[in-house]
Amino acid sequence: MAAERSAEILERSRALFPGGVNSPVRAFRGVGGDPVVAARGEGARIWDVDGKEYIDYVLSWGPLVLGHAHPMVLDAIDAAMRDGTSFGMPTELEVKLGELIRDRMPHVEMLRFVSSGTEATMSAIRVARAFTGRDSILKFDGCYHGHADSFLVRAGSGVATLGLPDSPGVPSQLASLTLTAPFNDLEETRRLATGTSGGVAAIIVEPVVGNSGFILPEKGFLEGLRKIADETGALLVFDEVMTGFRIAPSGAREMSGVTADITTLGKVIGGGLPAAAYGGRREIMEQVAPSGPVYQAGTLSGNPLAMAAGYATLTALTRELHQKIAAKTTRLVDGLEKIASRCSVPFTAGSAGSMWGFFFHEGPVRNFDDAKKADVALFRKFFHAALERGVYLAPSAFEAGFVSAAHGDREIDETLERLDDAMRIANA
Ligand code: PMP
Repeated sequence: MAAERSAEILERSRALFPGGVNSPVRAFRGVGGDPVVAARGEGARIWDVDGKEYIDYVLSWGPLVLGHAHPMVLDAIDAAMRDGTSFGMPTELEVKLGELIRDRMPHVEMLRFVSSGTEATMSAIRVARAFTGRDSILKFDGCYHGHADSFLVRAGSGVATLGLPDSPGVPSQLASLTLTAPFNDLEETRRLATGTSGGVAAIIVEPVVGNSGFILPEKGFLEGLRKIADETGALLVFDEVMTGFRIAPSGAREMSGVTADITTLGKVIGGGLPAAAYGGRREIMEQVAPSGPVYQAGTLSGNPLAMAAGYATLTALTRELHQKIAAKTTRLVDGLEKIASRCSVPFTAGSAGSMWGFFFHEGPVRNFDDAKKADVALFRKFFHAALERGVYLAPSAFEAGFVSAAHGDREIDETLERLDDAMRIANA
């Protein structure tokens, strides 16, 4: 039961917003019960409108790699804001953030800023279709690439959480152009990429899956995708909206050695404000208007506040800081594994940099079908026991977790203590 102030706000929300929320997973349908109504965040912690404190492992679904209300980010936003909030004109701030991204991801030779991950992936696919002259795309079951029509086919994230079939409202003719293979299955990927008449424009993948829960690519999988793309003339698109500046100091190329043709970014690059991007090889990106014929535009694209927040975030997120957060993430995951083992619950967990996740399943979890075999009822109990004890985990068995620079040893110790208790209660 939500406390008084939360209950009152939730009642007003439900009269106003579908499901009471402005993005589905926030509604807690995957775990039951009432969502937490956030009032304030600082560092690793958030407080709800009734004053209850939580250690936060959702971090606005990934962006807040420095934690909530980081002073450097706030100062940068403040300084930018005083010069005006939006121009719809070129600014130096967007050049600075763009150059910084290119420095860390040299394969992103040219990029375009947009305001959400959905816009980034949707535009990336449009460019890939134009560049190759092909219509079909190939994605992986349980991967989520935003809510554009072409991607709502066997999607992860909220689509998986709610157990929804492919979304109504997506024309079947369009959906039929989206092919899907199981993650980590090169044989099926090859079969689809070579067997589709007219060929495949793009193979798009979350290089580490975060939207069917946390799933790592097996050794050779991303390399295999690169090879299949090269052999079939498809473009390889790494959707790094979630993994960018999370799974490695930069991203998937640094983690795997595999270079995508197009990379999509979001979350961390906006430092908690709406910014995303798509970019890649110059000859591909030169297709985008007004340089080329592929139309894509945005009133608030490259918004100065978002650029300033992203720039401050990435500047602070040095290689050393990334390693430090990654080490904390490993400590958290190792600790959780020990707790689960003491409680004798089936459990498998993993992390890549500052992104992590777990399943109540013996493992290995190689793909979405495996993920769906996890004990979701146990997850729900564990989630609520954790929430009661002040640990805010993603309210779904099919979402990844995150750690920030503000999660020190103290927060990790406190979390493990609370989760030890939560696991015992859930498993009782
Ligand atoms: N791609 C991936 C891999 C994502 O995780 C998400 C969002 N969780 C998106 C795209 C869509 O981003 P947005 O919610 O900003 O539209």
